[in-house]
Amino acid sequence: MSYGVPQQQDWNALSDEAFGAAVRAEFESHYPAELRYPPRRLRWHENKSWFLRMAAKGWIAPGWPREYGGMGLAPAKLLIFLEEQERWGIVRFQDHGILMIGPVLMRFGTEAQRRRYLPPILACEEIWCQGYSEPNAGSDLASLRTEARLEGGDFIINGQKTWTTLAHDATHIFVLARTDKDAKKQEGISFLLLELAAPGVTVRPIRDLAGHEEFCEVFFDNVRTPASNLVGGLNQGWTVAKSLLGFERIHLGSPKLPEYGLQVLLAVARARGVLQDPVFRDRMARLQLDVAHLGDIYTHFAAIVGHGEALGPEVSLLKIWATETFQRIADLIIETAGDCGGHAGKVQMGGERIEVLAPFYKARPSTIYGGSNEIQRNILAKQVLNLPG
Ligand SMILES: Cc1cc2nc3c(=O)[nH]c(=O)nc-3n(C[C@H](O)[C@H](O)[C@H](O)COP(=O)(O)OP(=O)(O)OC[C@H]3O[C@@H](n4cnc5c(N)ncnc54)[C@H](O)[C@@H]3O)c2cc1C
Repeated sequence: MSYGVPQQQDWNALSDEAFGAAVRAEFESHYPAELRYPPRRLRWHENKSWFLRMAAKGWIAPGWPREYGGMGLAPAKLLIFLEEQERWGIVRFQDHGILMIGPVLMRFGTEAQRRRYLPPILACEEIWCQGYSEPNAGSDLASLRTEARLEGGDFIINGQKTWTTLAHDATHIFVLARTDKDAKKQEGISFLLLELAAPGVTVRPIRDLAGHEEFCEVFFDNVRTPASNLVGGLNQGWTVAKSLLGFERIHLGSPKLPEYGLQVLLAVARARGVLQDPVFRDRMARLQLDVAHLGDIYTHFAAIVGHGEALGPEVSLLKIWATETFQRIADLIIETAGDCGGHAGKVQMGGERIEVLAPFYKARPSTIYGGSNEIQRNILAKQVLNLPG
C-alpha cells in the first residue's frame, strides 16, 4: 500500500545548501505574508490553506519515512527544514498527527491501524490532539484518573483531560487512560485512539490570559472506542507515551523564539528612542549574548540529532535556557514600551505598529509545556549531576 503523495525526489541526495535553498524558495514564494510570525497559535480555519498545499506537495510530514508517505528527511535535513520554517515565521501547524500519533503508530501500531490512520493525517483530513494532562495529573502524569474498561469489543472511557491544545479543531484525540487500578501507577495505563465526534465527548475551550482559546477541557462520559484502537498493548501505554518525548526535547530549546523576541525588542527600543541609552544597551547586550550562546549550544545538540544519535538528559538545559531567556526579553519589551506596554493587540509606536504583548503571552506558558522547567531542573540534578533526590 502507498501512503500519501509519492515523493518525486530523494531529498537526502542533495547537499545541505541545495536542500536549504529549495525549501527557502518554496516558503518565500508561496507562504502568505499575512501569516508570518503570528502573535498567537492560529486556528485551523486560518492556516489550513497553507498546510493543504504542503500536503498536496508531499511536504506535510518531513520527518516520516518515505514508505509511509513522508519526505524521509535524514535528521540533519529535517533540522534544516524546521529552521527554515521558523526563520520565515511559518505558523505551527496543529501537528499532533504528524509529530506524535504518526510516529507512534509506525513504532507501536498494527498494520491495520497504520492503514486506517496514516493516510488521512497526511491529507490533513483528520486532525489530532493530545489527551495526556488532567486537572491533577500534569507533571505527575502517571497519577491520571481517566479510566477505560473493556466491555465486549469496546473500551468505555470516563474522565477528563485538560489543557488539550486545539481540541476544538481536532477530529481525533489520543488519550492515556487507566485500565488497571490495582497495578503500580505507570503499569496500569493504556494508550487509546478515539473520535471526538463520538457520543459522550464534550470539548470546552479555555480562554487564556491573552483572551485566546488555544486549549480546551475534554470530558468523557461513557465514550466508546473499539478495542482495535488500543495502541501498544493493554497496560503498555506508559511506554508508548514516553516515546513521544524524543524530538520535542530539542525543538523546545530552539533559539528562534528568543530571536523573535529580540526583533520585537529592537523595534520597540527604536520607537522609544532608547537604542543609545547606555543602561538599555547593557541590558540588551546581555540578552543578545545569552541568545547567541543558546544558538551555539543548540547547534551542538542539533549535530547530535543530525548524526542520528540519541539525546542525553543534559538536553534539558536547552529548554530552560531558551524559555527563560525568552521570558526576560519579553519582560524588557514591556518595560521599554512604557505606557504602551500594557496594550493588547498592535500598538502604534513611532512609525510602526507593534504587538508589544505577543512575546509576553508566548513566553509565559513556554516554561510549563513539554515538561515544566522545574521538572527539567530535577532531571539535570538527578541524571546529569547525580545529586541526591
Ligand atoms: C500552552 C500549553 C499547551 C498545552 N497543551 C497540552 C496538550 O495539548 N495536551 C496535554 O495533555 N497537555 C498539554 N499541556 C499541559 C502541560 O503538559 C502541563 O501543564 C504540564 O505538564 C504541567 O502540569 P500542570 O499544569 O498540571 O502543573 P503541575 O504539574 O501541577 O505543576 C505546578 C507547578 O509545580 C511544579 N512542580 C510539579 N512537580 C514538581 C516536582 N516534582 N519538583 C519541582 N516542581 C514541581 C511545576 O513545575 C509547576 O511550576 C499544555 C500546557 C500549556 C501551558
